[in-house]
Amino acid sequence: MHNTLAPHIVNQLTANATHHLQRSRRIFEERLDSRALVDGKTLINFCSNDYLNIAGHTAVKKAFKRGADIHGLGSSGSALISGYSTSHAKLEEAFAAFLQRDRALLFNSGYHANLGVLTTFAHKHTTIIADKYCHASLNNGAQLSRAKFLRYRHNQYQHAEELLIKHQSRPLLLMTESVFSMQGSISNIPSLSQLATKYNAMLMVDDAHGIGILGKHGGGITEHFRLKQKDIHCLVTPLGKGIGSYGAIVSGDEQTIEALLQLAGTYRYCTALPPAICEATLAALAIIQTESWRRIKLNYLCEYFVKESLSRNIPLASHDSTPIKSVIIGSSERALAIQQTLIEKGLLVSCIRPPTVPARQACLRISLNCMHEEQQIVFLLDQLHELLSHDIQ
Ligand SMILES: *Cc1c(COP(=O)(O)O)cnc(C)c1O
Repeated sequence: MHNTLAPHIVNQLTANATHHLQRSRRIFEERLDSRALVDGKTLINFCSNDYLNIAGHTAVKKAFKRGADIHGLGSSGSALISGYSTSHAKLEEAFAAFLQRDRALLFNSGYHANLGVLTTFAHKHTTIIADKYCHASLNNGAQLSRAKFLRYRHNQYQHAEELLIKHQSRPLLLMTESVFSMQGSISNIPSLSQLATKYNAMLMVDDAHGIGILGKHGGGITEHFRLKQKDIHCLVTPLGKGIGSYGAIVSGDEQTIEALLQLAGTYRYCTALPPAICEATLAALAIIQTESWRRIKLNYLCEYFVKESLSRNIPLASHDSTPIKSVIIGSSERALAIQQTLIEKGLLVSCIRPPTVPARQACLRISLNCMHEEQQIVFLLDQLHELLSHDIQ
């Protein structure tokens, strides 16, 4: 079947198939609050990163339509040529104010932002020191920058410090996620910030799963820890999760952001996002700030989930209060089988396998949403308890 492909590709595909690492897609025909119509079947949806259920909000849809009426579809060019509109400028200003940072720059996605930041600020003489569980986009950015790339054990800051000490003669860049996308654990950013100051490293934080969720007003990791701009040099805020939109904001001081505008290839060489997306994202940002019930309900569900998991001895990767709940299974084959059984019972959770997680650490990733109800969580945990009962003593 793959006889036109190079042998190393064929080998990789065969190995993936043998080790239950093949990927396939499901068709989401419709999303309805806590449920989704998937491949013709209505399932309780525990897979969505739209934690606050904003993507389908009436105000967001209206803003999107209004934006399309005014601007049409495409932006017509790179932001540096002809693609930068009033809508883009308004969105950057709104996020700079919301995050209390001097300036913000809108990238086309979190992936673009992470590649852009890392290839701008790291080079072959830099040492990048990162949490072992950082997202692929951060790791890919580090590789692309040609820096020396070292990783410390997950949330083990003493290990991070050992690496910083060892490499302190080189320019240093320390990077982490705020809320880990697969484990749901929260980084202690104040500790990392102190390390960054002590060893004169640049600190970059990816707040993909903190924005909208953490902090009284949904300001994310900086509001959660009451951090000042100087505590995090480069804050990356992808908009596809808690904001329910698309794109990513990078914020920091004037100099840092101007450097990105001047130098980041992923900023320069991409057509700017459609202006209508910016209009819709502005509406989403307003909802984050005004409809705090969404965050309050979600936080309640996060705590409820942990409590109910503990009483059933369900092993979670982290007990931190975030909407990402990960149950470590180990074998990819077994994780897939459990996922399939849950689907048959009307429950959709994601099955995360290597290389997204380390080898032999396949897990079921459950994401909570402010539209879930307690009884849906109880139903899921009861099913999981039964399926895992052989492991749980
Ligand atoms: C999803 C994600 C990204 C990528 O963001 P996109 O906008 O989807 O490209 C980057 N970092 C983390 C931690 C993520 O979870």
